[in-house]
Amino acid sequence: MSVIASVKRPTMECENEHFLMTQRQIDEIAFEMGLDPELHERLRYPKRALIVTVPVRMDSGVVTSFTGYRVHHDVTLGPAKGGIRFHPEVSLGEVSALAMLMTWKCALMNLPYGGAKGGIRCHPWDLSLGEKERLTRRYTSEIINLIGPDKDIPAPDMYTNEQTMAWIMDTYSINVGHSVPSVVTGKPVSIGGSLGRNEATGRGVAYCAQRAVEFSELKTASPTVVIQGFGNVGSVAAKILHEKGFTIVAVSDVYGGIYNPKGLDIPRLLAYISEMGKVENFAGANNVTNAELLSLPCDILIPAALGNQIHSENMDKINCKILVEGANGPTSPEADQYLHDKGILIVPDILANAGGVTVSYFEWVQGLMHLFWSEDEVNKRLEQIMGRACDQVFDLTKKTKLRPRMSALRIGIGRLAEAKRLRGLYP
Ligand code: GLU
Repeated sequence: MSVIASVKRPTMECENEHFLMTQRQIDEIAFEMGLDPELHERLRYPKRALIVTVPVRMDSGVVTSFTGYRVHHDVTLGPAKGGIRFHPEVSLGEVSALAMLMTWKCALMNLPYGGAKGGIRCHPWDLSLGEKERLTRRYTSEIINLIGPDKDIPAPDMYTNEQTMAWIMDTYSINVGHSVPSVVTGKPVSIGGSLGRNEATGRGVAYCAQRAVEFSELKTASPTVVIQGFGNVGSVAAKILHEKGFTIVAVSDVYGGIYNPKGLDIPRLLAYISEMGKVENFAGANNVTNAELLSLPCDILIPAALGNQIHSENMDKINCKILVEGANGPTSPEADQYLHDKGILIVPDILANAGGVTVSYFEWVQGLMHLFWSEDEVNKRLEQIMGRACDQVFDLTKKTKLRPRMSALRIGIGRLAEAKRLRGLYP
């Protein structure tokens, strides 16, 4: 622990368990890399955080107030960047932790962005489309002074999507008096979105899984894969890995999971889900619970759902060789160390799921240039950037014996620290 980190001081509002767990990552690597204690201290907290009340007229006619947040962790390298999530567990601590992860992620991928995150505490599955639209528009107007194409660019996250981004873009544009597509990324292609953005996170996860197989010299013709979460990230990763010859043996969604040790027919499963709305009872597979799914034997486990899924209580049941973190923060610090010591290769979230923000960056650049690329071009550039980051993280891991998460942090935080040092401390 660095000297600064142990100085006694009053706690901040964001310091809940989730935030402190994420903050431990920078404390650990700061010590490891001999980070300047002043820079360390400046990077341990969010730069600014806004809490807003979002009153919404529900379909019943009643007005309900929701709580919303937008947090900027750091903006040294460029505008703040990060998603907006709708979920009952959204809190200042969670959003601040996720904003911090966005800073490390953008720095690791060498994108000219700082880190942000936003969210509204709500049960999105209970809201009608109209309620969601009114909630999104009022939230946008409440945080309007923070966002903008040069200030802070939101994107989709859990339970938000292209439509949410279209409403944010429209609300912002109406308020400033002209169309500003570049205020968000992850918007529909018809209003300036990028081809390939929707699939980008899953595509990046699949790419990292392939690279991890090469790095760990796994000698299996068709590595077996278990995926927790079958939303935008998990389903795309499953489809791409299946096409590349991997055997997807189990997947799950919020209702439960399915397992077939011989492999699932993914195209048929995707058609089944679009009809039934869930994976349960898929013919040719057995139903399993989410807890059972995490302990299934496999080569590659991909948690692509909520955070904190692999922790001290279930870490000894994990039965994979490679763990690719599609979700943000799915592994607790204890579990990270324990699984690493057991010889499991963990591809950390800030690398594994960085495909989304990387193509967000492409979308922003294309929008500012008013010049759009083909899907092929987007995917090629994504592979280039992901490939370079994978090389850097795996090389450093080999050289130093650091955990891959620590290698990734060291690269990202090293870049950011250099920029902060050169810019100096104002005043
Ligand atoms: N919400 C995504 C993430 O956690 C994407 C962020 C973005 O594209 O700005 O990386």
